[in-house]
Parts: sequence; structure tokens; C-alpha cells
Amino acid sequence: MVEIFEQHDDIRTFFAELLLPVPIPRLFTYRVPRVSQENIRVGQRAIVPFGERKVVTGVITSIHEKAPQEYEAKYILELLDTFPVVSDVQLRLFHWIASYYLCTAGEVLNAALPSGLKLSSESMVQLHPAFSFEETPYSFTEKEALLLRTLAGESMDYTAIATLLGVKNPYNILKLLAAKEAIILFEELREKYRPKTDRRIRLTAAYTTAKPLEDLFQTLATKPLQEAVLLRYLQLVHVMQDPISNTAGLSRKVLTDDPELSDSSIKTLVKHSVFEEFDVIVSRFPDEDVGSTPIVPLSPLQQQAHQDILKSFTTHDYTLLHGVTGSGKTEIYINLIRQAIEGGSQALYLLPEIALTTQIVHRLKKVFGTTMGVYHSRFSDAERVEVWNGVLSGRFKFVVGVRSSVLLPFDNLGLVIVDEEHDSSYKQQEPAPRYHARDVAMMMAHMHHAKVLLGSATPSVESYYQAQQGKYGLVTLDKRFGDAQLPQVVLADIGRERRQKTLKGDFTGLLLRKIDETLQQKEQVIIFQNRRGYSPMVNCEDCGWVPKCVNCAVSLTYHQYRHALVCHYCGYKENLPQQCPICTSARLKTVGYGTEKLEEELNLHFPNAQVQRMDLDTTRSKNSYETIIDQFERGETNILVGTQMVTKGLDFDHVSLVGIFHADRMIHFPDFRSYERAFQLITQVSGRAGRRDKPGTVIVQTSDPEHPLLQLILRHDYRGFYEVQLADRLQHHYPPFSRLIEITLKHADKRVCRQAAETLAEACRTNLSSVYILGPGEPAISKIRNQFLMNILIKVPRANANLGQIKSTLLSLAESLTQQKEFRSTRIILDADPM
Ligand code: ADP
Ligand code: ZN
Ligand code: ZN
Repeated sequence: MVEIFEQHDDIRTFFAELLLPVPIPRLFTYRVPRVSQENIRVGQRAIVPFGERKVVTGVITSIHEKAPQEYEAKYILELLDTFPVVSDVQLRLFHWIASYYLCTAGEVLNAALPSGLKLSSESMVQLHPAFSFEETPYSFTEKEALLLRTLAGESMDYTAIATLLGVKNPYNILKLLAAKEAIILFEELREKYRPKTDRRIRLTAAYTTAKPLEDLFQTLATKPLQEAVLLRYLQLVHVMQDPISNTAGLSRKVLTDDPELSDSSIKTLVKHSVFEEFDVIVSRFPDEDVGSTPIVPLSPLQQQAHQDILKSFTTHDYTLLHGVTGSGKTEIYINLIRQAIEGGSQALYLLPEIALTTQIVHRLKKVFGTTMGVYHSRFSDAERVEVWNGVLSGRFKFVVGVRSSVLLPFDNLGLVIVDEEHDSSYKQQEPAPRYHARDVAMMMAHMHHAKVLLGSATPSVESYYQAQQGKYGLVTLDKRFGDAQLPQVVLADIGRERRQKTLKGDFTGLLLRKIDETLQQKEQVIIFQNRRGYSPMVNCEDCGWVPKCVNCAVSLTYHQYRHALVCHYCGYKENLPQQCPICTSARLKTVGYGTEKLEEELNLHFPNAQVQRMDLDTTRSKNSYETIIDQFERGETNILVGTQMVTKGLDFDHVSLVGIFHADRMIHFPDFRSYERAFQLITQVSGRAGRRDKPGTVIVQTSDPEHPLLQLILRHDYRGFYEVQLADRLQHHYPPFSRLIEITLKHADKRVCRQAAETLAEACRTNLSSVYILGPGEPAISKIRNQFLMNILIKVPRANANLGQIKSTLLSLAESLTQQKEFRSTRIILDADPM
């Protein structure tokens, strides 16, 4: 290409297609400035004008010479990279995600790029890329010419321009210049990401040999403070024996933090060019425990599973590892990852949001050291940029991360592990792209010719079905590691205890007794209740009034520590009234147990025990989550009570009792996956008990001990559970026998919302064939943030080969609905494979 440029430099014009992080389903064509023609590459980021005044960062997806027909292409303002930061496979994957999950590739790009790789905005002025004094047909005033000459080297902001021109407001001048196509007004192109730097100090080259150094000491003989600084430096950096160590220098902080050294002496030595200061870029990730521990040898059962997985990989791209809790799946993953890295490829280990704890990161760091990147939503954006760049540069061969790490710029992936593959937090709910990280990982692996291992103690019905069908390989580990036994599950019958009057609040006598015994034996307890706050509801004992959210169709949760009624959907908050606003009764009663109330009552029942609560409210600050886990691990806490957060991935030595406070609500939640969720949740949290030599016990409090699902859980009968579920799914056309697409309509007016939903459902019925269409109907929560909701559910049988066609039909039906005047402000959300 370079030679061609040299020959025809003056006649050829190049254009680039850009993917922009905007929800518009197309690419945009821009003109490539002359200066960039040789350096531009697919996968680089570029800054482009977008709309009237905006500037956005996009990614170049192709370069060509076809001028767009419908519009005059604008110029690319600036190339941000010298090499591609988005890989080819990634671009293909983004387009696949967009079409599968009914969104735009721009929305995927927006989710993928950490905001530090996008740009922040502030009004700025730059020379127009096509401007030159020789070619312009316009003439300029003196002030204009001065500004244009100054802008030749740099971009400037309003204030700087006002100062330069000596005017109060340069707006009119700028407007005229813009009209003459001499400048561009834009929002500042400042990269948000700044690498972390360390200010260092070293001896200047003049003093690195013996003679000048001796002379220097002579000079400093009368200046003991400066001499002390020099001496300390020479103690720490062996300038003579190891000249390179002086090149690397010393962190300036080491000297300034030293109480015996004077700051001003350091400055003086720098001023006199004895020392010089410089900055180096340092990692935000400390190099701890660098690969210090060798891998632990696998048990014979683990070895067998490991071999089976490798064997399965020879015939299957996807393999499911069904291993009971505590069977040692993690050690198997570690072995596989190491093999993949040693084979020269990249590896990705996906974990659900809350399972990615310091526990697991430490364990992995010990093996993989600094070759491992951690990608977590609790991380700052700068840390995420560093992982992104680390994957690009090859520094991180292996990433452990949450959902969004499937969007990282891998270019040579060999293995993906999706741990707890059944977990619903792999699915992004809001905003688009509403993708499922497990399924995206599988598509991504397919594009890289990589292998995928799905792991779970309670596989999703969908994945297990694929394994049963032979589409995925299946490897089973049905024993815990070592001598550990699966815990014994016991049902505590709330109804019977109520009749026998042994119930205390909502605590069964059985659960209280077991907690007491466990604490006596100096063992630890985990209590799980999936509701935060004090009480999920408040209720007037005289007239039955229940405080509801003003914005949503839900009752408010009482939070005692905030003395407030709070909506868990929109955050609305109000004070608990003194009396009922309907009947003025003062008998307002809290109903039901949230984690806060559980914590309070556990403290009353067990005054000598340390009780700690772990839920969204106690883990808002950056390290609180780790702190709670560390304290529990060290045995400083005796009872840990919490929501979902206590169910996943945690591995403690001394937990011998797990209590599930209220199993019934989970089971009876109105969703076709509620049995599956309940089975998974109860099994997972039970799995925290008895992970070492002492057997564990799980107490499940229920009003319905005969419930078939509980009976299956008692027997640890995954297969039995699976068979029952599968029959049910077959009968009602649910996954894995069909694929679901859920349409949600939102409107501030309930009537319009319903009408829009009915119109759309009707259009679906007319235009789609061989699908089942349910609804429209109101979802369980029919109003959120003052928007009324309606749902339509499309079930596409697996045998229907037109999934792609159906999706594009749905998109156009949705679009033509919002083009009708009365439905213009309806929001329509299309969700593929909703969870
Ligand atoms: P899972 O992920 O299947 O629930 P883990 O991988 O957490 O199980 O293993 C359970 C426990 O057994 C952990 O404490 C782990 O350290 C221990 N363990 C597993 N495999 C080995 C091994 N090969 N040698 C020593 N300890 C092991
Ligand atoms: Zn009342
Ligand atoms: Zn609300």
C-alpha cells in the first residue's frame, strides 16, 4: 500500500468504516486525513465528529476508497492508537452478539471498552484537517490568522483562545472560522486513562564513576544533610558494582519517607544536577506471591476427571464437568489452564460476579503470579484498562474475570472455563447488550478454535440436556475431595413447630438448637436468607394497609438502621409513619424477615457469638466484602448471615452448619426456572458446610416439608431433579426445547402500554410462524420507576431453523410500532434467552 501512496498521493482519497459506541445499527463512513493514510489500521481507535457538536471514539473496521452516497463524509479527527486495540475476532464476536441479542454492535463496543479507552468531553478547538492557507479560498482577519497559526501545532480550549486574542468571548470569531472550514469545534479529546507512574531519582551520569564521586563527597563535607542523602542513596543503590541499578534508580518516596533525611536537601541535590528525577510507569497490580507455590498433586479421582476432560476435548469443543460441591473442581481448572498457557495460548476463567473473591484470586495468584489478569467490576476503570492493555501486549496470558471479560481483546484463546455455569448473573439484564457470558464464551471459543469447560455442581437444565444429547462432553465427579462427606440435609417443619409452640419468631427450635451445638463445638454457622433489609413488608394490624412505593408496584422494605422504608427497585425512601394513614391506628407491624432482622435476633439468641451480616447494604464500600470474608475465615465471626452472597464459591474450614431460613418463597416464585433456582441455591449454600474432615449439617426451614423438590434436595438427587424438570420443560415448550425471546414494553401511561403490547402481539401473530406467542400480560411487578410494563413471550421451538429471521422480523415490528404516533414514546426491550 505504501508504494501506491507514493505514486498517486495526490489523487486518492481513503475512507474508513467506523463502529461507534452508539445504539444505531450501522457503521459510519469517515474520510481519512492525508497524514493518517499510512498509519491507519483496522482495530485502531479514532476520534470522529458525530452529529452537530459531538465527538466520539470509534473503532476502525475497514478502510476503502468508496465515498458514501447519501452524505458527505466528515474527517477522522485523530487516530488514538499506533496498533490495533480491538482484534479481528473481537469485531466478529461483537457483530454476532449484536445479532443474537437483538442490539447494535455499537452497544456491544460501548460495553466492551473500559471508559478510560473512550474519551471525556470539554469544548475545544482544532484546525480543520483539510485546511491550508494556500488552498483556502477565504481571507482572514489578523486575529483569525493569528489563531490559525497557533492552532497549527495544537488544539486549544476557549479560555486559552480568549487570552491569545485578547477578547472576552471568542465565540463569534470561532463561528466564522468554522464556517470557513478552517477549524473544528469539538469536545476535548482527553484520554481518561492515565498510567500510574512512580517518580524516581538517580545519580546523574557525571557522578557514576569513582573520581567525580570522591570529589563530590569533598564538596559536601560541609553540608552534612546533603551528604546523608547521598550516603543513603549509595547504600541502597550499588552504583559502582551494578551500574544498571542506577539507571533504574530509586523511588523518590524511599528517600522522602525517610525521617532522617531532609526534603530540601534532596531538592538541592536535584537542583545542582547531582541527582535527576524521572517517571516510570508502574503496574496498579502489586506483584504478590509470584508463582511461589507449585500446583498441588491431584487426587486419583481428580486425575481421572482431568484425563476424561482432555479426552472429551478431542471429540467435543464443549465439555460439562458435573462435580459436587467440594469435589475439587478448582484444582482441575488450574491444571488445565496451566497446560493451555504452556501450549502457548491464552486462557479465560469466568466466574459469577460474587464468586470472584480474594480467596480464589489468592489461590490462583500463587500458581500463575503476574501472568494472570483479574477483571472485576469492583475494580476501578484504570485497573480495567490495564487488564485490557495487558491482554493486548501479551503480559496476561490468563485472565480470571466476571461476565464482561468475554469482551476482552483475546487473539489466541485456547481454553475457556465457565465455573458455576448455571449462574444467572452471567446474563446481563440492563442495559443492552443483554448477553449471556457463558453462551458468548462458547461462541468466542468457537471463533478461536478453543475448548470450553463448563463446571457446576448443579448444571443448568439446558447444559445438562446438551451433555445428555452428546452435543457436549460430560465428565462427572460425584465425591468430595479427601474424606469430606456431602452434608446431611434436614428439614425443619415450621408448621409443626408452630403447633407445638416451639417456634421462636420465625426460628424453629431445631435450627436454634443446632446453632447452639455448633457454637459449643467452636464451629461456624452460615445462615442464608435471600431478602435484605429488616422486614420485606409493613402492615397495619387494623385495616391491612401496606406502604407501597410511589413509583413502583411493590411494597416497601423496612430498613431499621436507616429508619426508613425503601424501595428495592427504584431506591425511593420515606420515613416509617407513626400511625396508619388510612385508619390512624398505631399498630403498624413489620412482617417477615430480612437479613437485618435475622442479624438482630441471632444476637439476642446467642449473645456470646459474633454475628456478621453480608448483603448489599454491608458491602457497598470497596473492601468491605473482603473484610467480612477474612474475618470469618480467621474465626473472628461465629455466625455469618447473608443473601446470595454467602452461597457462592466460598471455601471455609470450620463451617459445619448451614441454615436456610426460608425455602418456600424461593420455590414458589412465579417463574418457570424457580424450581431450578431453588435447587441450585440450596445445594450451593449447603455446599459451604463440612468441606473438611468434619461432616456438615444443613437445616432447611419450610412449611411444606413434603414438597417433591425438597425431597430431591434431601437426597442430593440432581438426576432426579433434572428428569422432573425436563419433562416439565418439554410439556410447556420451555428451554432446552425452545428458545425464548421476551419483549417488554414500557410506558408511563398504563392504557397506552397495554394497547401497544396488544398491537405488537397481534403483529407477531400475523408475521411469525411456527412459534408460540404468550401474552401480552402484566409481569409480576407491573410498574417500575413510574413506567408500566407489559410482556410478550415468544417461544421458538429448537427445530425452527429461522431464529435469525424471526429476530429481524421482531426488530422491524418493534420499530414500526414506535413509528405509530400514539406509541411513539413506548420503550420496547427485546431480550433473547431471558433469565
Ligand atoms: P469445588 O470447586 O469443586 O467446590 P474446591 O476446588 O474448592 O471444590 O476444593 C474443595 C477443597 O478441597 C478446597 O479446600 C481445596 O483446597 C481442597 N482440594 C481440592 N483438591 C485438592 C488437592 N488435589 N490437594 C489438596 N487439596 C485439595
Ligand atoms: Zn390502618
Ligand atoms: Zn420504587
